[in-house]
Amino acid sequence: MATAKPLALAAKPDLYMILTSFHRPQPDIHLLLSQQIVCSLSRPLKKAYVTAVTHDRHIIFNDEKYICIKLDWWHRDSLIIILKAIHHHPEAFPDVNDMSFRVFWGIPATLDTLQIDLSAWFVRYFEHWKSRRLEYGYEPWLVVGKVFDYDEDYAKLSARIIVEFTGWKDGGGMLTGPKGTKGLETDGPLEMWEGWAPREVMGEVEKMKMEQYRLLYEILDAMDTWYRHIVHLKTSKQGSCTCSPIEDCVVVGKALITTLKSQGLIHRRHDHVAFRGSILELRRLLQPTEVKLRRALGGFGYGRCKVYDSMRKLLKDVDTILSKVRGFKYDGTVEEFNIDALCGVMMVLPWSTGQMGVVAVGVSLLLMVAITISWSVLKTLLSGACFLAKLI
Ligand SMILES: [Zn+2]
Repeated sequence: MATAKPLALAAKPDLYMILTSFHRPQPDIHLLLSQQIVCSLSRPLKKAYVTAVTHDRHIIFNDEKYICIKLDWWHRDSLIIILKAIHHHPEAFPDVNDMSFRVFWGIPATLDTLQIDLSAWFVRYFEHWKSRRLEYGYEPWLVVGKVFDYDEDYAKLSARIIVEFTGWKDGGGMLTGPKGTKGLETDGPLEMWEGWAPREVMGEVEKMKMEQYRLLYEILDAMDTWYRHIVHLKTSKQGSCTCSPIEDCVVVGKALITTLKSQGLIHRRHDHVAFRGSILELRRLLQPTEVKLRRALGGFGYGRCKVYDSMRKLLKDVDTILSKVRGFKYDGTVEEFNIDALCGVMMVLPWSTGQMGVVAVGVSLLLMVAITISWSVLKTLLSGACFLAKLI
């Protein structure tokens, strides 16, 4: 039956294990183990052994008539390290610099799934990788932190994944990382698969999914409310524009409506959300409006314009939602983070003139402000709310 020479990890083996590879195109690995060691340390493996013994048709013997169990496991390299360790193999523990993060995080994932309580044996590898837990590509730290019972930055990492990763692909169970980030050992995009986490960590992933949806729909609600308000201003002719220059708000508002419509965020059909970006990307769609609004405020051109005021309120509402992003610890507790604390660099406004430029514009406009305001008021009185017709 044995097609490959088995790797003997026990001095006196009595259990034959075949490691199959469903996920990766690799040949099976054959191992000779001690049934007593394997079954005393892992309940799932003991169950597999008992099943092999009691179900005649499934028992496979090698030439020595050992009981054989088959195991399909994603983290095969990590499992072999663990099997070597429990059999006191002399080469069980590689040098910390010789173990990749992929193999390392497979160890706690395997220990957790096979219910082997030996994480203490691998602490030095944990210490080696600990400082990188918040870096891109190290998201499987969700598994590591839980198994090694280390909750530092755990909630922050889950909150960062919630706002930076794109939504779960329909039926695929996979999240893609921020644009420009790549997986640690591939040239492909950074990905987080729902399936690679042990069952208990999966509970945390489910919470993360719910939190991402909560943020998305609260922001969509704020956008809907804003759009309905603009429509109301137009139809009720209640808008009053005191902008300088007059109708500046129309240009900014129209650009925002175009952006939100093109992304399927407002004016949606059957409540279908076409947007497939991250929560961070969703917030960044508002940045051009934010820049314009700050310039309008800094240049004394904003006045009491209801259109600008509605955009200011939209930004405030969205930022209030994003000031309380929930991160989850494995013990079930929740920690709240402001999006700035999670991805501050990416939240910096793309200033073209800088704050000083805005101040300079404001000072120069101060000289003209009396004329401008009186002109604005006069024009508003003359034009009423008709300017809103150009907005929608
Ligand atoms: Zn205006």
